[in-house]
Amino acid sequence: MINSSLKELSGLLAAKKISSVELTQTFLHRIEALNPSLNAFITLDADRSLAQARAADAQIAANQASPLTGIPVAQKDIFCAQGWRSTCGSKMLANFVSPYDAHVIEQFDRAGAVNLGKTNMDEFAMGSSNETSFFGKVKNPWDLNAVPGGSSGGSAAAVAGRLAPAATGTDTGGSIRQPAALTGITGIKPTYGVVSRYGMIAFASSLDQAGPMAQSAEDCALMLNVMAGFDPRDSTSLERDREDYARDLNQPLQGLKIGLPKEYFAEGLSADVARSVEAALAEYRKLGAETVEISLPNTRLSIPVYYVLAPAEASSNLARYDGVRYGYRAPEYGDLNDMYKKSRAQGFGSEVKRRIMIGTYVLSAGYYDAYYIQAQKLRRLIAQDFESAFKQCDVIMGPTSPSTAFNLGEKSDDPVSMYLSDIYTIAVNLAGLPGMSVPCGFGDNGLPVGLQIIGNYFSEARMLNVAHQYQLATDWHLRLPPLGNGV
Ligand code: GLN
Repeated sequence: MINSSLKELSGLLAAKKISSVELTQTFLHRIEALNPSLNAFITLDADRSLAQARAADAQIAANQASPLTGIPVAQKDIFCAQGWRSTCGSKMLANFVSPYDAHVIEQFDRAGAVNLGKTNMDEFAMGSSNETSFFGKVKNPWDLNAVPGGSSGGSAAAVAGRLAPAATGTDTGGSIRQPAALTGITGIKPTYGVVSRYGMIAFASSLDQAGPMAQSAEDCALMLNVMAGFDPRDSTSLERDREDYARDLNQPLQGLKIGLPKEYFAEGLSADVARSVEAALAEYRKLGAETVEISLPNTRLSIPVYYVLAPAEASSNLARYDGVRYGYRAPEYGDLNDMYKKSRAQGFGSEVKRRIMIGTYVLSAGYYDAYYIQAQKLRRLIAQDFESAFKQCDVIMGPTSPSTAFNLGEKSDDPVSMYLSDIYTIAVNLAGLPGMSVPCGFGDNGLPVGLQIIGNYFSEARMLNVAHQYQLATDWHLRLPPLGNGV
C-alpha cells in the first residue's frame, strides 16, 4: 500500500477495500518508525489527522468523494494550518499555532484530504540542503549521510521514504525541483500565480510558488488539480478558468520539440548527471520527440540576480518578526530597540540573518540603483531568453541540479557553493515559468538524478503529459531507497 499511486489509493478507498483511517494509520506508523532517522516531520498530530480521516470515510460512505478524499498528504511547514503549529523551520515561529488556514490547506480540506503532518524545511525556505532548519537536518532516505536537498527537504524525504503518499512544497529558486531530484521523486513548480500564496509564509513574494511533490507526474497532476485556482486574497493569484491537469497525460509525444540549452550542458555539470540526462533524452527521441539546441545566454546572471532580489524581498517580508505581535520574544531586554534587536538576534538563524543583511544593503539609499534596479533589469533579460527559446521548442530539458545529493555538512560553510546547486532552477522562478523534476537515473554514488522539464507559461498539463509518457516507458520513479520496511 505504501508504494501505491494516488489513483490506486483513491480506487482502494472508493471500493472500500481500505478506509482512510487505516491508510492514515499505516503512514503514521511508518512515520513513527522512520522519522527518528530521517527527521522529515516537524509536527505530527495523530488525533487531528485521524479525525480528518474519519470525516473522509463518512464522505466516501455518502458517495461524496473526490479524487483525493481520504488520502493523507504531508504539508510543508511553510503553510499556516489552523490549530497546527506552523514554524517555517524557524525558532522565530517555534511556538506559533496558526489561527487560520492557508489557501492551499483549505483546498486540501475541501477535497477531503487528510493533513498527515507538517514537514521539515530550511529556515524560512532559505537553503538547498535542509540544514538551516531550527528543527535539525533532514536526511536523504537513499543515504543517511547525504542531504535531501532544500528547502522542501522534509516533504521530499517523506515522499521518497514512503512516509507519505504525497506532499506539498514551495519553490522560490528551486526548492521543489532540487529536493525532488536529490531524492528521486517528481515535483512541479507551477507558473507564478497559479497557486495562491495566501497563508504561505512569505520569503520572496515575487518568486515564491507552491506545488506538489509526489511519486509520479500523474500523482502531481491530481495534487495540482486541488492546489490551483483563483483566490482573491492573493493579489498575484491569476483569475483563470479551472483546468484538469490530468487531461493530456495520455497524449503521444510524436513531434514534440525539446530545446536543450547549451549553457545547461557545460562546465560545472557532473559527468554522471550528464549521462543520466542524455539517456533520458535518448528515451524521449524513442518516444518520437526531437531535440534542438537552444541558448539561454543570460542564465549565468541568474544566481547573482536572484541573490539580490530574493534577499531584498526577504528583508522586507521578515521585518514583521519584531517580537511584538507574534513569534519569538527575547526573555530579557532593556528598552524597545533592545527588545527588537535581541528578539531578532536570538530568533533567526545565521543564513536568514545573512539574507536580511544583504537585502537591507541592496535596498539602501545609494545602493538601490546599482543593485536592486540593475537586478530587476537583468531579470527581464532572463525572461526574454525563455521567450525567444519557446519560439524554437515546446519544452526545455536539462539537469535539475549539477550533482547528485552531497553529504551533510559538505557545503554548510561555503554559501556560494551551496547557492550554485540551484544554477539550473533559479532562472525559471525569475521568469515566472513552470518547471518540474522527474527521476531519470542514478549517479556514481548510487543517488538519484533528476531531469528538469521547463514549459512555457500555463503549460503545466503539457509538461505533466511529457513527464508521464516518460514514466510509462521507464521505472526510475518506482525505485525505492534501501530504508527497509520500518513497519
Ligand atoms: N536554495 C535557494 C535559496 O536558498 C532557493 C530556495 C527556495 O526555492 N525556497 O534561496
